[in-house]
Amino acid sequence: MSDLKTILNGILDGRSVDPATIGTLLELEDPIELKTLFEYADRVRRLYLGDGIYLRGLVEFSNVCNKECFYCGLNRMNARLTRYRMSPEEIMYSAAKVAGDGIRTVVLQSGEEPGLDAAWLAGIVRSIKEQFDIAVTLSAGERPYEDYRLWKEAGADRYLLKIETSQKVLYERFHDGASFENRLRCLRDLRDLGYEVGSGSLVGLPGQDTVSIARDLLFFKDQNYDMVGIGPFIPHPQTPLAHEKSAEASMVLKATAVARILLKDVNLPATTALGSLGRDYRPDGLRAGANVLMPNYTPAPYRALYTLYPGKRCLEESVGSCAGCMELTAKSINRTISHSKGGRRDAKYAA
Ligand code: SAH
Ligand code: SF4
Repeated sequence: MSDLKTILNGILDGRSVDPATIGTLLELEDPIELKTLFEYADRVRRLYLGDGIYLRGLVEFSNVCNKECFYCGLNRMNARLTRYRMSPEEIMYSAAKVAGDGIRTVVLQSGEEPGLDAAWLAGIVRSIKEQFDIAVTLSAGERPYEDYRLWKEAGADRYLLKIETSQKVLYERFHDGASFENRLRCLRDLRDLGYEVGSGSLVGLPGQDTVSIARDLLFFKDQNYDMVGIGPFIPHPQTPLAHEKSAEASMVLKATAVARILLKDVNLPATTALGSLGRDYRPDGLRAGANVLMPNYTPAPYRALYTLYPGKRCLEESVGSCAGCMELTAKSINRTISHSKGGRRDAKYAA
């Protein structure tokens, strides 16, 4: 592509932001052009956010789920999975480990369980906020406005709810009976309630093309989310998509780089799924625009049962070995670990 730098400059200053142009960037294959793209995204990341990597300690507190997302190993049709929900004491113990490791955000994630008592989770959020000076992110799927309000009032700071794909037709193909409009409604409610909102997408879903991925990135720009997690689709053997192909790591890296240039100061994780594609591509993600890592603090025996996709990294590690591993990862790419809470509004270098 002869005018690659011009296109990248155009995206940075908001001129060339049409799906076709972005789609052509996602189709780049030439190693020199890819190097240009990734280095450009890396410079934008440094300019807006500096070199510190934000950490979020992930506690997968329940794998009970009532949804039928075709890609996900926790979907309710997977009868072979042993289901669990951690006790409040176990969750508090994990949150204490996160805080004890100097990580200033805990993410409490679960399947979507209508039976989950909102007041129960609110109580846990309140206890964490009372005991530790850390941010709390929730990720428990689609819920009524009232539940989101209760959790916000209990002190929750952020909420993660990926749109997965911004294309309604594609969304409905992989979510039997689920409403795209309700997902959008949830994201709006969360924003209205004052949460920092994280969304994101799956790259490599069957039937998705580069223009579709480009539209996802433009959707994120339009919605101005605070965090955007772009992860590869990895087929799970006990799902309807068992025989589909895994996403290519390179497509996730290209989408991450374009997201950085388009969204500038947004928090972009190098997702755990990106670390689970044969080799660990998270350092590559961090060099292509990402600035967040999410070490896993779910204790045994639960961690091995939170099988969104197969081959998940760090299933055998014990809680506590993560912090050191993150330090090593940062060092290997000449970056540092930030011990700030790492909210979007905390960005030190906002340009
Ligand atoms: N139940 C909540 C949160 C847990 S699922 C929700 O759905 O929002 C967290 C994320 O796991 C999902 O947003 C999805 O993007 C990801 N995921 C699920 N199955 C996956 C798969 N097969 N490959 C890659 N990511 C997957
Ligand atoms: Fe449940 Fe979330 Fe998996 Fe969908 S992606 S099946 S809601 S855990």
